[in-house]
Amino acid sequence: WRHVLYDIDISRSCVPKCIDRLAREIGLLSNEVELYGKTKAKVHLEAIDRLRIQPDGKYVVVTGITPTPLGEGKSTTTIGLVQALGAHLNNNVFACVRQPSQGPTFGIKGGAAGGGYSQVIPMEEFNLHLTGDIHAITAANNLVAAAIDARIFHEATQSDKALFNRLVPLSGGHRTFSPVQINRLKKLGIEKSDPSTLTEEEITRFARLDIDPESITWQRVLDTNDRFLRKITIGQSPTEKGYTRTAQFDITVASEIMAVLALTSSLEDMKHRLAKMVVATSRNGEPVTTEDLGVCGALTVLMRDAIKPNLMQTLEGNPVFVHAGPFANIAHGNSSILADKIALKLVGPEGFVVTEAGFGADIGMEKFFNIKCRYSGLRPHVVVLVATVRALKMHGGGPSVTAGMPLPKEYTEENLELVEKGFCNLRKQVENTKHFGVPVVVAVNAFKTDTEAELQLICKLAKEAGAFDAVQCTHWADGGAGAVELGKAVQKAAEAPSNFRFLYDTELPVVDKIRIIAQKIYGADEIELLPEAQHKVHLYTKQGFGNLPICMAKTHLSLSHDAEKKGAPTGFVLPVRDIRASVGAGFLYPLVGTMPTIPGLPTRPCFYDIDLEPETGEVIGLF
Ligand code: ADP
Repeated sequence: WRHVLYDIDISRSCVPKCIDRLAREIGLLSNEVELYGKTKAKVHLEAIDRLRIQPDGKYVVVTGITPTPLGEGKSTTTIGLVQALGAHLNNNVFACVRQPSQGPTFGIKGGAAGGGYSQVIPMEEFNLHLTGDIHAITAANNLVAAAIDARIFHEATQSDKALFNRLVPLSGGHRTFSPVQINRLKKLGIEKSDPSTLTEEEITRFARLDIDPESITWQRVLDTNDRFLRKITIGQSPTEKGYTRTAQFDITVASEIMAVLALTSSLEDMKHRLAKMVVATSRNGEPVTTEDLGVCGALTVLMRDAIKPNLMQTLEGNPVFVHAGPFANIAHGNSSILADKIALKLVGPEGFVVTEAGFGADIGMEKFFNIKCRYSGLRPHVVVLVATVRALKMHGGGPSVTAGMPLPKEYTEENLELVEKGFCNLRKQVENTKHFGVPVVVAVNAFKTDTEAELQLICKLAKEAGAFDAVQCTHWADGGAGAVELGKAVQKAAEAPSNFRFLYDTELPVVDKIRIIAQKIYGADEIELLPEAQHKVHLYTKQGFGNLPICMAKTHLSLSHDAEKKGAPTGFVLPVRDIRASVGAGFLYPLVGTMPTIPGLPTRPCFYDIDLEPETGEVIGLF
């Protein structure tokens, strides 16, 4: 093993090529590229139209075993594999990854640009503001939140007539409806375009959304790990006349707007999804949408640049799209459909696009197939399942680890027994990939302390468990050269017959869909719907949302709902506490246990190390 520098030092030691040069190299036209400095560019969606008749490349998704605090290296492997398939194996390639939230960057996990000699560069640009997409989402999300509370306030403090007159103001002696208001009238079944002809009853129905404050599911967001905003009281100033209510902040990447960005297929489609988002229920049981609030057009305006994927590069100069980063528990945890689609056109039919799904295969990959592929219509050729010796040892019963303390010897010395015991987790995740009929290649991401016998044991067991192939790789230490065997295995697997299928039909009842995921993917015996969840099944089915795909919000640290249960637990009943709807994004998300939607800061957050170097002005301390 050669000496490997800190991630940021490696990132900085490489001079990235000018991004406009990279854009030209991969076949983009200058009018399709919007430069954001020398290392980042946004790519216009017109590129998809221009390349419409070009066949797509091969589509590879990287996923992993159940995560542990020891880290598995999915992002690192995504980048390492692209580097290997690129210059080392002579293919057109593209990596598509999520944009990280600043919460973890300054909190516990650090950045997410990959690591060692397999990184997206410049990593400080990648990990910080990038081109402002997350800020745009924050702005759009909070505009909706402000619109909800202001609307409740105005409805509560004005008569129907006064409200109507303000909503449809006089202009040049006439009142006219705006386009969004005409849509609302249609929804209410009022076939009139002249405001002066509405009856009193119609005026009331039009002017009052009559939001039940208890039913509001839309939260404010920010992209900081600020745990004291998990529960707040709003409206405490006397100007709000006592209209206080308990509310909360979520992290921006948990916003439904982030999920919309990741799942949309065009500007038109995004506009449609941004209008369909349900924020609450009215007192008579109707869903209240962003269109009802009149805010959907403004949301599209705020999001019109964010929809364009961001082009960056790997340490070895391969193109990377960094686009969207939906939270992987209450959302679907995958980068954008649009980035994957443009990349698949650009690489051409012989090329490879490697995209990454967050968390373990039971979460990120299941949602990749059942949600992302359902909406994109894309069909992957290969699954790459990342495993490490250390993480499997933990699944086999290895001791827990404490941040900042040396690793126990179980993880630094050979222990084949623990590896074999923990292999049950990898076996189950291999089985999980097989439900979808796509060949799976296991990538054993080698760490310095792993022994050859341990690495070989995993490869042998993985092949016995039905993996198409299983290979060791050292791309963290060696860059693309360390993942050439993995690249070759992926090339072969991409030629193998694939028989893609979804795990469930969306037309099945909500409860059946949840049960199928719980039993087939998690290994549960049964599910148990708690009263709130039962109520939501009825409500959403009645409101017409019962045929949406399911996005399970479950801990990523276990195949079960109990984060402490490592390995491959069996014999458990999965409790579903509640169900929420992201109607614009297009999924229902059952809550399994309690899910923090904004992380907290630890005693010693990563920000202690982050600073600007006084002499050079460079960022230090990111990792
Ligand atoms: P994931 O995507 O699974 O969360 P990452 O790829 O972000 O994991 O890697 C997590 C951390 O582990 C990063 O800091 C990365 O540099 C480090 N890492 C990954 N692979 C290795 C390896 N083989 N040896 C040492 N460190 C590694």
